[in-house]
Amino acid sequence: MRLKKMMQTTTTTTMITKTTAFDDNYRVRVVEGVSTMRARKSVRARSSFKRAMKSSSAMSAQAAVEGLKGSKGTLGRARGRADERTDSKAESLLSIWLQREAQRGNLDEDLVVVLRAISIACKRISGLVKAAPLQGNIGLAGGKNESGDEQKKLDVIANDVFLDAVKSCGRSSVIVTEEEDHPVFSATKVGNGDFIVTFDPIDGSSNIDACVTTGAIFGIYSPGECDIDPSESAEKILENCTLNAMQSGENLVAAGYCMFSSSCVFMITTGHGVYGFTLDEQIGEFVLSHDDQKIPDGKEMKRIYSGNNGNVDLWAPELKDYVSKLQTGEIDGKIGNPWSYRYIGALIGDFHRTLLYGGIWLYPPDAKAPEGKARLLYEVAPIAYIAEQAQGMATRGKFANERVMEVKPTSIHQKSPMFVGSTSAVLGLQKFLKDRANTKR
Ligand code: MN
Ligand code: MN
Repeated sequence: MRLKKMMQTTTTTTMITKTTAFDDNYRVRVVEGVSTMRARKSVRARSSFKRAMKSSSAMSAQAAVEGLKGSKGTLGRARGRADERTDSKAESLLSIWLQREAQRGNLDEDLVVVLRAISIACKRISGLVKAAPLQGNIGLAGGKNESGDEQKKLDVIANDVFLDAVKSCGRSSVIVTEEEDHPVFSATKVGNGDFIVTFDPIDGSSNIDACVTTGAIFGIYSPGECDIDPSESAEKILENCTLNAMQSGENLVAAGYCMFSSSCVFMITTGHGVYGFTLDEQIGEFVLSHDDQKIPDGKEMKRIYSGNNGNVDLWAPELKDYVSKLQTGEIDGKIGNPWSYRYIGALIGDFHRTLLYGGIWLYPPDAKAPEGKARLLYEVAPIAYIAEQAQGMATRGKFANERVMEVKPTSIHQKSPMFVGSTSAVLGLQKFLKDRANTKR
């Protein structure tokens, strides 16, 4: 039912209607069937992108950069630092910045191709999200995904945009998306890369009808150990795709998200710090706005906690106690000076604020969701990687001391809890949980 829905959004309906009953084999066949058409589409997309790059004159790029530089506050300061670091203003454009990172030896050339493809998918989805109420793309699509979430129309469309972009770049062999039950085998190999790309095309889509912040989130893992031979049976291909996809966060080579909010911001790490780019709609490009972003800590950290407070009675009692210590300020010895509470209920929105302001975001298991609600491969591990690259921490477990990055999944849609934020805040939580366990004994 769900797959059928998905396919109605592509132009390959004729082929699909022939095979509706099973999905394991089906997904693989469908993917091979659409590859040529999608590759052709993507060549068009790439050349028009190149044309756009050529025609956006040095003048307009320069103007955009100057505009950002002139702005006051964090952005202005970030731009100031960026200018010291970069040789040319043009390097502030994401596409050029990625190329330079490759030249510096920080980034694999094939990975650059994947990241560019993802950034283009994000621009498209940003446009779709903005126009959703006008284009009738609000409301439900009528299906449910693997995790039991009801699919919104935009989930289905954005998934197709993302899949199309990643498949057609030819550098990914396996794709795992929140919206597909099984890994997608991508047989359109062009370059050397055969990365495992995982994504949630729109996170927070349950808020979309109210125009609340949403975002796309992705993880790119090193190629897995199995050689996937397209001539093998569909079952074997699926088995190998699944094996290759089940990697811990330690095998991430890049991760990021694109937040669709008052600005459209693309944040990435490739293992050399965290960088953010804001979409300049005048030139249609992401421009560097968050240079070497760190999660604020110490005096710089805002004392903010986040999490679904409505569920606090479903959390472990020690976590409820922890929250009450935040509310009195006792947790860091500042009684009478409580921590502030902020919660959007959208993973990317809540994380992005934590990344910029500091504090702690609690996504613990509760009585109704013993593993939490967020998915390890394409939500929790990518966020953990970004947090660590920004000098923060991301942990889980009874004492909040298991590193999220080390968790090896046993299924592709596995869920995982997470505590993430400023290092001192996560260490504070660990200390609280340990002390409390000791006094109970
Ligand atoms: Mn999600
Ligand atoms: Mn989603």
